[in-house]
Amino acid sequence: PPSIHWFRRDLRISDNPALLQASRSADAVVPVYIPSTWQEHHSWTGPNRQSFLCQSLASLAKNLETLRGRLICRSGDPIRVLEKLVRDTGATAIHFNRDPDPHGQGVEKKLQAACVEWGIECHGFHEHTLHGPTEVLTKSGDPYRVYTPYSNNWLSLPKAEPAGKPGMLNTPADIDSEEVPDLGHWGLPKPAEGILEGGERAAIERLNTAVAERISDYGEKRDIPGTAGTSRLSQDLRFGLLSIRKVFTEVSKALGRARSASSRKSIETYIKELAWREFYMAILHHYPHVLEEEFNPDWRGLPWDEPGDLFEAWKNGLTGFPLVDAGMRQLRETGFMHNRLRMVVAMFLTKDLHLDWRLGESYFMQHLVDGEIASNNGGWQWSAGTGADAAPYFRIQNPWSQSARHDPGGDYIRKWVPELKDVPAKRLHEPPADHRPLAKDYPLPIVDHKKERERTLAIFKKHKAAK
Ligand code: FAD
Repeated sequence: PPSIHWFRRDLRISDNPALLQASRSADAVVPVYIPSTWQEHHSWTGPNRQSFLCQSLASLAKNLETLRGRLICRSGDPIRVLEKLVRDTGATAIHFNRDPDPHGQGVEKKLQAACVEWGIECHGFHEHTLHGPTEVLTKSGDPYRVYTPYSNNWLSLPKAEPAGKPGMLNTPADIDSEEVPDLGHWGLPKPAEGILEGGERAAIERLNTAVAERISDYGEKRDIPGTAGTSRLSQDLRFGLLSIRKVFTEVSKALGRARSASSRKSIETYIKELAWREFYMAILHHYPHVLEEEFNPDWRGLPWDEPGDLFEAWKNGLTGFPLVDAGMRQLRETGFMHNRLRMVVAMFLTKDLHLDWRLGESYFMQHLVDGEIASNNGGWQWSAGTGADAAPYFRIQNPWSQSARHDPGGDYIRKWVPELKDVPAKRLHEPPADHRPLAKDYPLPIVDHKKERERTLAIFKKHKAAK
């Protein structure tokens, strides 16, 4: 009898532990994907991420054919879909890779119980991170709440190597399948034009480019949004187009080959970013309440302003702060935003506009191709000053000096805010002294940073005193 492999956030063939095991344990494998019914549960995705998903599924379906496999797509409640598939195929085992998110884990629990009832085997593999959330703990066995000791421990642990490709899958020919979904499946409009190509092959190319051209200068270039200085692998890790073991192994090989101290340092810095990803996944696992409220109890119940025109201006990249607007427009036009800008626009929303970080968190989830619940929540709470290892509330970035420091020549700003293409760089990094807009159709700054900074400090101080 065949085995079922349930694809979820592991849309690849290479180094896929559950798929490999399914192919080893049976002569035939039924690979299935169950498009989620997210619209019934939340609004935390949108055309950008879903379109990348659809492209990645189409590419997966083709790759499976090279292994005599056929991707079966069936929509509905996952447990009911799998129950029917077991009945239709006579499968005796289900294999899947575990989900790092609480919702996915809830479904896994139900599946495990259901498999007992159906009398079949159920094999879940932990593989989305190099180290699971219960593997990196303090000496007393508690989860870390601060990044540096977490990452020191994380770095010291031995890392697994990638495994090979599965054998032939021989999916039986007579199993019903829907078409691989496109955006119409969820009734979504067109995505942004500038989103990256999905699929395992495109992701491997990005990894090769990152290793050959980017990570050795990562230390210098990662904070210059106007250059291609970061790896651009976040969406590939989000959807499992690349395994984290493959990324780590290739990056470690590059570290072994690096000649100069500066490139070694750059690659080490890069590896520490991979640890941030796992740190936030561990935080979400141990403190799932972060999705509802502030990680740090001191900051629960802060009084946020009502969203209105200011929130609209932020979303539309029309705040009159060129760097903030450039970041928001990059997001709208490509489904991606450079990390430095994510921090800048998040601090701007929470500290200059006094709007709830949850509004920004959800807006990001609707637009980011790499939207990852744990990293996004972690990034937002960090910026708001409310999270694990967060910047203290009184460290408020000045969007003007951020702009002068990280985009001195204005290249990034001019790329995304074309109205400003003829404005000299210096004028992009300070409020207009003459109170005249920098260009026709470009707004004046919607707030005065100095004043809003004072207001934020007062709000936080008052809140702390009242606790
Ligand atoms: P690189 O700089 O090349 O880093 C390599 C990899 O390390 C990334 O692909 C990512 O997997 C991981 N990484 C890097 N920085 C971080 C970080 N601060 N936290 C967690 N992982 C990190 N990242 C997401 O993947 N999804 C999100 O939804 C997300 N939302 C964010 C929201 C805010 C407010 C902030 C401040 C950060 C957010 N990040 C998120 C983290 C970071 O901005 C992105 O991972 C990064 O910009 C992706 O680009 P890259 O792949 O070129 O990164």
